[in-house]
Amino acid sequence: MSGILSQDIKFLTGVGPRKSVILNQELKVFTLGDLIYYFPYKYVDRTKFYTIREIYSSLPHIQVKGRITGMEMIGAGRNERLVAYLTDGTGLLELIWFQGIKFVKPTLKTNIEYIVFGKPVEFNGQFSIVHPEMDESKPESTKKEGYIQAFYNTSEKLKSNFLHSKVILKLQYAALQLAKGHIFESMPAWLVQKLGLVGLETALINIHFPENPQLLKKAEYRLKFEELFYIQLKLLHLKEDRHKKFKGHIFSSVGDYFNDFFYKHLPFELTDAQKRVVKEIRKDMGSGRQMNRLLQGDVGSGKTMVALMSMLIALDNGFQCCMMAPTEILANQHLVSLQKFLGDMPVKVSLLTGSTKKKDRLIIHEESLNGKLHILIGTHALLEDIVQFKSLGIVIIDEQHRFGVSQRARMWRKNFIPPHVLVMTATPIPRTLAMTVYGDLDVSVIDELPPGRKPIKTVHYFENKRAQLYDFIRNEIANGRQIYVVYPLISESEKLDYKYLEEGFEHIQKLFPSPQYSIGMVHGKMKPAAKEAEMQRFKQGETQILVATTVIEVGVDVPNASVMIIESSERFGLSQLHQLRGRVGRGAEQSFCILLSGFKLGVDSRKRIETMVATNDGFEIAEADMRLRGPGDIEGTQQSGIAFDLKISNLAKDGQILQYARDIATTIIADDPMLEKPQNDILKKQLIALKKNHLNWGSIS
Ligand code: ADP
Ligand code: MG
Repeated sequence: MSGILSQDIKFLTGVGPRKSVILNQELKVFTLGDLIYYFPYKYVDRTKFYTIREIYSSLPHIQVKGRITGMEMIGAGRNERLVAYLTDGTGLLELIWFQGIKFVKPTLKTNIEYIVFGKPVEFNGQFSIVHPEMDESKPESTKKEGYIQAFYNTSEKLKSNFLHSKVILKLQYAALQLAKGHIFESMPAWLVQKLGLVGLETALINIHFPENPQLLKKAEYRLKFEELFYIQLKLLHLKEDRHKKFKGHIFSSVGDYFNDFFYKHLPFELTDAQKRVVKEIRKDMGSGRQMNRLLQGDVGSGKTMVALMSMLIALDNGFQCCMMAPTEILANQHLVSLQKFLGDMPVKVSLLTGSTKKKDRLIIHEESLNGKLHILIGTHALLEDIVQFKSLGIVIIDEQHRFGVSQRARMWRKNFIPPHVLVMTATPIPRTLAMTVYGDLDVSVIDELPPGRKPIKTVHYFENKRAQLYDFIRNEIANGRQIYVVYPLISESEKLDYKYLEEGFEHIQKLFPSPQYSIGMVHGKMKPAAKEAEMQRFKQGETQILVATTVIEVGVDVPNASVMIIESSERFGLSQLHQLRGRVGRGAEQSFCILLSGFKLGVDSRKRIETMVATNDGFEIAEADMRLRGPGDIEGTQQSGIAFDLKISNLAKDGQILQYARDIATTIIADDPMLEKPQNDILKKQLIALKKNHLNWGSIS
């Protein structure tokens, strides 16, 4: 940024030391530039004036010009209010204040014309505006009357320090006056021209003070495009740079391990999607550069098999593999599945978790270092420095959103040449988000489920259907099926939630008494061993109903379980509901997901439940989730280190601009990978500046 824009905000007229501290704290606004880049969240068209006679109650905010004919205090106590009567000759409008009366009252004058702004409400045929915004209608301000007014998000703290939206707007005006003529174009001229964008200065002025709706639109587009474009350029540049810097092990051959497995042990035919993905991975690992690949595949799409086949290629080339899962249950399950798949093949697989005995641990450390061990599966325990490999060729990370960036970096340091990395996630994320959060990774998608699966039937029941539900459960159990009953467990209300869980468990025990029925329970407070034992009992079919918290959310595989009942489903997030539902429908039987809820449902809860009932498609659900919650809250984004810094764009809404920005960035990087051409000078400088300021979350591995 040029000199003037980096000037401290406290020197701006109207700010001063006190307000500047508040701006620092609340908005992270330190400089003029920061302020100018604090964009409005909405605009109100104040080009139109209504006459009082024209007002009707469903109008949004309106403005009216008129004079106050009188005022009075009405009511008492909490109902006490100041009412002023405004007329413009066509009718009477009441202006009402409940708060701040002693500040407002002395400022109201009867001899001048006001511009009154607010939302009209109707009561007994009389219109009023509560807490209107009032401006004197001065002749010299008439030019300003017809304008589009920007509104800024403020906090309680900002407001209590007199930094209302309107004040921020005034500050913006002052800041732009100073900055005008000093705002330098941040994109290359050829690009601005090619894309028909407005210049940066025009964009910044019009985003705060739109000259007209067309220019506002152009300003928004320019700023959104620029923001998304630089993120994409940075990610693509990073990827290019990494490809250049980091050589990868070359897995050139496919040998006995892979072929033996493929021809003699593969228990089913791979789906086309699995075949395609294995091919992509093979090509990547043979390319001579390090693989950094994200494997997205909905629950049950068969990612484990893809992981195994990738590991067999590593073995064929004389390398070891490791596979990291977020929980012991999952790590254990991977061990069991891999061992089952591999059968009598001469592949040594071990498991290392927090509860591995010291004696076994020592053996594992030794065998991993001397190369006897082929595949090491585990939890975070794998990250300890003592775990060293002779030649680690590939790292598979399952359900990645549970792992942070730094943890992945640690796996890297175990080797001189970094191993290939395959990150697997069952939480589909919207395309726009994937492009941004994982923009520097290659992405493979398994978009097809193994054949013969029956889509899970999902229904929503209110409390009054319980009796019916229990009959249904009895029936399913009689047919040999098993049932999950999941309760929410949220840290803020943990104590109460545990109570509900216990009560639910007791209730189920009463309804399904032993010895005919056997009920299990798992939750996060149990010791891992006890939890594990309880899971195993369910897996073996010794218990028919498992009452649980979301500890069973990810990855747990019991094909015989056909019913997932989710208590208080309105309290779960969409992706969590989808993950839970994925625990059933893993066998050949028709499966069901029953979402129970109270009668009172908020708008968002209702939408979440409706979405679940309407679709089984993880990607569709992810899109819906993002629309409901906004991109910043989507699981995986916070943990992945992306401190959602977007100032103007919205990944839920600006997908098209994002795609365009990525396409343009791709073309530029393809033509000039290191941005060395003179016409790309600004791009390079801008990337360096961005690196210094923010957005340095781009690199994942
Ligand atoms: P996820 O992608 O959720 O990790 P898994 O790898 O656990 O899914 O696979 C789910 C189930 O589907 C497992 O029981 C697995 O053996 C089975 N499976 C995987 N691929 C196929 C296939 N091509 N045909 C039939 N069953 C498959
Ligand atoms: Mg899995």
